[in-house]
Amino acid sequence: MNVNELRQRFEKYCEKEGNVRLNPDKKHADIAMDGVLQNEEKTGLKYCPCRIQTGDFEKDIELLCPCNFFAQKTWQEKGECWCGLFVKS
Ligand code: SF4
Repeated sequence: MNVNELRQRFEKYCEKEGNVRLNPDKKHADIAMDGVLQNEEKTGLKYCPCRIQTGDFEKDIELLCPCNFFAQKTWQEKGECWCGLFVKS
């Protein structure tokens, strides 16, 4: 999978959720998605590009992208996920 394919997948996710979209700053979004893909290459899973895995799978499940960012403080205060990949629409 490349960044464009991941973008398409995440855009579908956003459509489904309704109140979220990818960061309109395409460069920022692409860098974050590239990080997700690099993590996938290393670990086999699409982990968050800006948080470090613990090595404990039960805990790291929460770092799979997209995570439950609606519960994050940054979402409530700034309207974006921790990495700024997803923003409020
Ligand atoms: S903080 Fe953003 S980039 Fe990181 S896992 Fe959650 S949704 Fe993905």
